[in-house]
Amino acid sequence: MAKEREPERVKRAVEVARAAHEGQLRKTGEPYIVHPLAVKKILEEWGMDEDTIIAGILHDTVEDTELTLEDIKKEFGEPVAFLVDGVTKLSTARNGMRDIDTYLPATKDNFLRLMIALGDDIRVLIIKLADRLHNLRTLSALPPDKQKKIAKETLEVFAPLADRLNMGLLRVELADLSFKYVDPRRFEELKNLITKYNKSAEKTLAKIREEVAAALKKEKIRFEISGRVKSVYSLHKKLAKHNQNINEIYDLTALRIIVDDITDCYLVLGVIHSLYTPMEGRIKDYIAMPKQNGYRSLHTTVITKDKHIVEFQIRTREMHEYAERGLAASFYYNEQKVTENYKKGKIEHLPTNLLWITELQNTAAKLREGKKVDLKKLKINLFADKIFVYTPKGDILDLPKGALPLDFAYKLHSEIGDHVVGVKINGKMSNLNKKLEQGDIVEILTSKNQTPKSSWLDRIITSHARTKLMRALRIKPPEERVTTIKKASKTKKK
Ligand code: MN
Repeated sequence: MAKEREPERVKRAVEVARAAHEGQLRKTGEPYIVHPLAVKKILEEWGMDEDTIIAGILHDTVEDTELTLEDIKKEFGEPVAFLVDGVTKLSTARNGMRDIDTYLPATKDNFLRLMIALGDDIRVLIIKLADRLHNLRTLSALPPDKQKKIAKETLEVFAPLADRLNMGLLRVELADLSFKYVDPRRFEELKNLITKYNKSAEKTLAKIREEVAAALKKEKIRFEISGRVKSVYSLHKKLAKHNQNINEIYDLTALRIIVDDITDCYLVLGVIHSLYTPMEGRIKDYIAMPKQNGYRSLHTTVITKDKHIVEFQIRTREMHEYAERGLAASFYYNEQKVTENYKKGKIEHLPTNLLWITELQNTAAKLREGKKVDLKKLKINLFADKIFVYTPKGDILDLPKGALPLDFAYKLHSEIGDHVVGVKINGKMSNLNKKLEQGDIVEILTSKNQTPKSSWLDRIITSHARTKLMRALRIKPPEERVTTIKKASKTKKK
């Protein structure tokens, strides 16, 4: 984006923030103002509107300095104060959800509560994501236990949120930055794997690119072609799904073709299928049927004459922009209209696939007016097959639906998983067969003397927990190992 002259209001906000944070230092040792300025820059890069940028500059003032919401309202207006208030509440909401109690009905699902609180204005969430991104970029300054905690939370809450907003670039950066802290060894291992693979595929890919380019020119289609690199974290997740078998991952390298319009997308698909053999079941038309987050593109995986497997992603420029910047992109293109509509409480500019945001906003409005809302009827299916559960301290963990206490325990740490003796769910003693539900507060009871049991294999549904448990079972003494294997194979036959 062309950098225009900075508006007076933005300059003034920087002055105010600088004065307010005067004397404060970040953990990195730098003056605190570095952080709000970095958040400002990120929001500018995302093409956000002026109020959002100003609120981004001031986002930590109310919580950490003498500045009050009243001051901000007086100087920068109601909308900015509203956004700053939202971001402040969001961070306190993370520590126990006290502030939003005023208008939210009792529900144990803190995450839903959080989302409804946010539903007031989705720009709050965008500021929070920018805030989180900069904190992650500078995470090395924190002590290791804090690093892990923040990185984990980012993987579980913020990266999926970025995905739901179709902010692809942000999702990849958040996920890979966090994953590096959560599991440094695995991160390096997979990163090297990707590099090695890409190097070995380099020549083949160059050849394929030439072939495709020649064919497209012949058809007089205007296009751009580029390679897309898979993120380390998404490879990690895919490998877990495919029993660590790298040969089942077909999109390690993908070529992306960007064209002028939708007709050309389908033309390109035809050209590619006339050059190479498409793999069965691997043609995906996300143009006719966009993903829930609004992502649109054609995907196809093909086998070349010399038996290389390559994925193609075909889309228009507009689809591409939206895939990378998501919600932020729609703000950029509709800035004036958006600001107007926000004042009126309308957001009809959003792509239909982001209607869940509208629903969230409507619910928030009703709750504020004191109307009754049945939260169970809300169709906010933010994270399709996932539930969010909490530790007694309020940390959020995401698990697949149907997960059991041992899945939770192993997700916390294998040391915890290996020594489970019982579980309390929402403060009450429960058992290891009890399916966890959305919003449960789960407390794992452990004992140093406990050892992993092969019968636990029946009480686990995540591959993550299974891998860890199997590893723990294998290192048992030989006599016990025999029974373990027997039992394990018995459970398998069922
Ligand atoms: Mn901050």
